[in-house]
Amino acid sequence: MSGLTTPQAWAAKTERTLDVVRAAMASNTKRRFTEHWTDDEVRDPLVALLGPKCWYCETTIQRADITVDHFRPKSEVLGEPGHDGYWWLAYKIANYRIACKHCNSSGARFDGMREGRAKGSRFPLLAGLRAWRQRDGLDLEQPLLLDPAQIGDPDLLGFDTAGYARRGRTPYSQAETQHGVCRADETIRILALNATQITEQRSDLMKEVTALAQLPGHPVIQDMIDKRVRPTAQWSAAAATALALQRACDRQLDTPARSAAARPVTTGSTPGHSNVDLHDLLEHLDPVELQAGISLTGRHRNTVHRAVLLHDGRISVWSRPWGTPNSAARAATGSDDIDGWGFWRLTIAGVEQSLAEFRAAHTTPDPPV
Ligand SMILES: [Zn+2]
Repeated sequence: MSGLTTPQAWAAKTERTLDVVRAAMASNTKRRFTEHWTDDEVRDPLVALLGPKCWYCETTIQRADITVDHFRPKSEVLGEPGHDGYWWLAYKIANYRIACKHCNSSGARFDGMREGRAKGSRFPLLAGLRAWRQRDGLDLEQPLLLDPAQIGDPDLLGFDTAGYARRGRTPYSQAETQHGVCRADETIRILALNATQITEQRSDLMKEVTALAQLPGHPVIQDMIDKRVRPTAQWSAAAATALALQRACDRQLDTPARSAAARPVTTGSTPGHSNVDLHDLLEHLDPVELQAGISLTGRHRNTVHRAVLLHDGRISVWSRPWGTPNSAARAATGSDDIDGWGFWRLTIAGVEQSLAEFRAAHTTPDPPV
């Protein structure tokens, strides 16, 4: 978003609209937000930054379907009764994100199944203090959703070779471990970034890039790779991940002595890690059972939900892998605030227990900070 300037005439026009919004709020009448964000003078420079693709799911968007999402929703905040929305940011370009209709408002639907509920007016906080009024500081908020325009946030998303978005290798933040939530996993859930159609096509793209990177160097091949990993290309983050993985493999083959000493790929073990995912707890499970997949069940509103704990610590719900018990439970139930550690139950040596009980039996509590 750096380098974008607000056109003067547009700023004056939107300030007048905002005055009308303020007057409506003062008189307790219905507010109307004129859609100045669709004006070419504002939308075109935003689209030019990454080309015609959604900043959230990276899918290429037909011109007619390009929408401008308000990262902080303008008229209400779902799950925050009484909040009037971030109306004072309705005409701030820094609050705009180019989005496809699936991510912005309608929710992804593939194979006739609803796979996500879209961002819409959702703006959950991981931690911090919610801004309710114009004078409140936005810096005190710690958003749960990854922000494609925030330096560092896109790096928290990685991709596996099957094309699934997942947490990258960055360690969890203090707030994530404190609340037992992974921002990447929650963003994948809310925006349905692992919807069937995207995942399959992303996987094909990653295979294509991997194959191209294995071919002998030639300007034409290099050009084909460049076209797929440039930031304006559809799903370029996944393509770049595939390229980096292949390059890393090539380096290991070149230097066998060093590769033998290379550390295994892990998601990183950090204090509090077991508050968020199961990675560090896998060693306490039977490896044979784990390899086959361990059944998990959870009960919510008289419905029993089933899942499978996979060998890498992820939890498969409806054949979708989730990195954390919380996101897996929320995906299974559709409830935004369920605690996955208490929800999922497994049976070990004939004893049924919750993941929370299993974790408590194998970890020592963190010392008070
Ligand atoms: Zn999208």
